[in-house]
Amino acid sequence: MEKVALGATGLTVSRLVFGTLPMGPLQAGFTPKDGGRLIRSALEAGVTMLDTAELYGTYPHIRAALDGYRGEVTIASKTHAPDGPTARSHVERALRELDRERIDIIHCHAARIADPFVERAGVIEELLTMKGEGKIGHVGLSTHFVAAVRKAANHPEIEVVHPLINQAGMGIIDGSAADMAAAIAACTAAGTGIYAMKALAGGNLIASARQSLRYVMDLPGVHAVALGMLSEAEVAANVSLFSTGETDAALWQELEGQRRHLRIMERFCKGCGLCVPACVNSALALKDGVAVVDKTACVLCGYCAAACPEFIIRVV
Ligand code: SF4
Ligand code: SF4
Repeated sequence: MEKVALGATGLTVSRLVFGTLPMGPLQAGFTPKDGGRLIRSALEAGVTMLDTAELYGTYPHIRAALDGYRGEVTIASKTHAPDGPTARSHVERALRELDRERIDIIHCHAARIADPFVERAGVIEELLTMKGEGKIGHVGLSTHFVAAVRKAANHPEIEVVHPLINQAGMGIIDGSAADMAAAIAACTAAGTGIYAMKALAGGNLIASARQSLRYVMDLPGVHAVALGMLSEAEVAANVSLFSTGETDAALWQELEGQRRHLRIMERFCKGCGLCVPACVNSALALKDGVAVVDKTACVLCGYCAAACPEFIIRVV
């Protein structure tokens, strides 16, 4: 598979990045063994970069995938910590659970933070300190905000940005797909490495997957694209698309026929409302004492699942 320089980081990565969120406990709930096997198959097919986060619960899956693996791999994780000490504890946990001496990229996981350079200044400072200690290779920013991507272009200490972009603009909080594309191009011009998230809007654009992926792959300044994959068929289809540009029509038609949705087990909902503010897309509300989802606004990110103390929300 084609490899690209990730901005000025010095890292060279595959254009297809394995996004591990969907296989974890917030979504499909794969066991580490099953998830590890799928990640390993992608690594052996040429994928060299894995994306995870403190929130995703997929460190065991990655560790299983890398057991005995001698190939090249770049790992990006994220901390959603509100302060420096918590961020440090998140990075230490990643190092321990992934059994690494250094995590290649740690993002300030600021999906819903309008200005992480102000609201997460302590986190970014701590991550830079840990970079100085050799525990982090590069500090990054993951965000759904155009303004944050735009601002990152003027912050050379942020070496990698992981922005939300898809052709429908779904999930972008403060602008359109064109606005985000312009902000991405500004970052790349400044030397920032860019790998995109939510090219299929969490599955909402699955019916037009090939066209939607092509839109993000061809965007100026996007070096690589993170995609969640849940089957060998998805791995094979994406590896082929990213390696040769070829698509097996029958296989893709089958994949594009798949549908995912958010499932709230209403019977067990306590009506506490904790999930409602966890959704930056305002897709959740309480109705008659239980949480309900507006499917037209939901991008299937699964973040509300992490906020539910009853563990009754899943993307399936
Ligand atoms: S309802 Fe949940 S899965 Fe859907 S966009 Fe909101 S946080 Fe994400
Ligand atoms: S957080 Fe869970 S229990 Fe609380 S309202 Fe939301 S779905 Fe129901």
